[in-house]
Amino acid sequence: MMADNKNKTPILELRKLCRYFGGLKAVHEVDLVLEAHALNGLIGPNGSGKTTIFNVITGIYEPTAGEVIFDGQSIGGLNPYVINQMGIARTFQNIRLFPNLTVLDNVRIAYHPYAGYGMNDAVLHNGKFNQKERELTEKAQDFLRVFNLQDRQAEIAKNLPYGEQRRLEIARALASNPKVLLLDEPAAGMNPNEATNLMELIHFIRGKFDLTVLLIEHQMRVVMGICEKITVMDFGEVIARGTAQEVQRDKHVIEAYLGPGADELSKQYLKEKAK
Ligand code: ADP
Ligand code: MG
Repeated sequence: MMADNKNKTPILELRKLCRYFGGLKAVHEVDLVLEAHALNGLIGPNGSGKTTIFNVITGIYEPTAGEVIFDGQSIGGLNPYVINQMGIARTFQNIRLFPNLTVLDNVRIAYHPYAGYGMNDAVLHNGKFNQKERELTEKAQDFLRVFNLQDRQAEIAKNLPYGEQRRLEIARALASNPKVLLLDEPAAGMNPNEATNLMELIHFIRGKFDLTVLLIEHQMRVVMGICEKITVMDFGEVIARGTAQEVQRDKHVIEAYLGPGADELSKQYLKEKAK
C-alpha cells in the first residue's frame, strides 16, 4: 500500500508550460506528470520543443507561462545552479564535458558542492582536506565503475571515443546526487548496438540510484523498449501520451512522423509496427 502510494507521487510536474521565442511557440501549454521512480520518454520530430522543455525545467530559460513543480515546489525561473542543488540533473544533446580534464576529475568536480570542507582546509592541505579528497576520489571511481569507465580514469576526456564521452556525461550528472535525471538524446551518434546497451544501462541506474528519469529521443525505436510511459510532441505541443504500444498506433503520432522533422528510421519503425 505504502509502496504503491510512493510510486504514484508526482516528483516533477509541468502545468500548461509555455516557452515562446518571439512569435515562435517552441513549447505551448504542455502538461506532463513524472511519478517518482518512473522511467519515461519524451519523443517527437526535430524542432518539436523537447530540448526547450529541459531548458525550462533546468532554469536555462524562464517559462513564458505555466508552472514547473518539483517535489511540491514551484521552481520555474530559479537559476540552474539552485535547481541542480535541489535535485535535478541533466545531460545535453551536444556533449558538455570539461574536455581537457581527466575522466576522473570530470566526475570529481560534480561532487564538490557536497564535499563539506572549507577554503581554509583546501589552502592548508590539512588532514581533513586530504581525507575528503580521498573520499571524493573513491566515490568518483565507484561511478566510473558503474559506467565501465574505470580503466579510463586517467585519460583526458576529449580523447575518449564518442560513446564513452556520452557515458561519462551521465556519470557526471549522477555525481551531483539528483532525484530526477533528464537525458537529452543520450544515444545520439551511437550505433544500434551501443544505443541498446546504453538503454539497458539507464534502466539499471534508475534502480540502483533510486532515480526518476525522463529521456528525450528523436529516434523512436531507441526508447520504445525501456520507457514505461511516453509523451509525444509535435510543433511545441503534446500530441499523444501512453505506453509504447499505445503511442505507436496513434494516428497523430503517425502523421507527425511523416513530416520533415522526423528521421527515416522512425518512419521505418512505425511502418513495421503498423503491419
Ligand atoms: P527539439 O529538441 O525537439 O528538436 P527544440 O526544443 O530544440 O526542439 O526547439 C524547438 C523550437 O524552438 C525550434 O523551432 C527551435 O529552433 C526553437 N528554439 C529553441 N531554442 C531557441 C532560442 N534560444 N531562440 C529561438 N528559437 C529557439
Ligand atoms: Mg533537442
